[in-house]
Amino acid sequence: MFCKIFDSLLTLAYPQACQICKNSVENLADGVACRFCWERTKIFSGAETLCAKCGAFLQAKASSFQTFCHRCDEHFYDSACAVGIYGHALSASVLHLKREPFVAKSLQKLFVSRFQNSDFQDTTLIVPVPLSKKRLLERGFNQATVLSKILAKQISVNLDEQSLVRKIHTPMHRAGMDRKAREMSVENAFEVKRPKLIRGKNVLLVDDVFTSGATVSNCAKTLKENDANKVYVFTLAKTL
Ligand SMILES: [Zn+2]
Ligand SMILES: [Zn+2]
Repeated sequence: MFCKIFDSLLTLAYPQACQICKNSVENLADGVACRFCWERTKIFSGAETLCAKCGAFLQAKASSFQTFCHRCDEHFYDSACAVGIYGHALSASVLHLKREPFVAKSLQKLFVSRFQNSDFQDTTLIVPVPLSKKRLLERGFNQATVLSKILAKQISVNLDEQSLVRKIHTPMHRAGMDRKAREMSVENAFEVKRPKLIRGKNVLLVDDVFTSGATVSNCAKTLKENDANKVYVFTLAKTL
């Protein structure tokens, strides 16, 4: 009897099976993935060669010159960085965050320390990438706002979740959607409601995942049209 109670208490304390390998997650702080899966996840240490603008992972050897992937040449933000590569525990965490407003403690730590080691220390305003009203109603929360709040609390920078809005509802990106189609689906989708609050600010635009960069680039374009000084992009994950 006692053993049974003890077992159920354990299950209460550690209710998760790893969403990737199905082994049990022994530390609650690891969230939806086990330690083994976290260890297989590429978290940027600062030693990698990343595109100096969009943060894309480049296979090339590090050199003293700034390196650019050039796929981001036309993007409107100044610079982007992510915690790591979209895969393993990071992709499982991102997918979970689309269903529940939850970020595991160890991932919160990685997120904050990645920011603290970034070149974005002159940030003066945090702005989450907005969802359309329709999507916000469906989901009940904006995952980018959840992330923004975690950061705002730690670095004492104001969070503005009202000024930038998504005025056009675009369907969820489908796998078959090519780069051009994705870019067009978010063109002119954003609007600044309160330009006074954006003017002169160094905006940190926060989102869960950086894919083609079309969404954040269009946000940045709108923010700059409204006289934002700089626009940085900060995400949990970056797709390869
Ligand atoms: Zn696992
Ligand atoms: Zn790039």
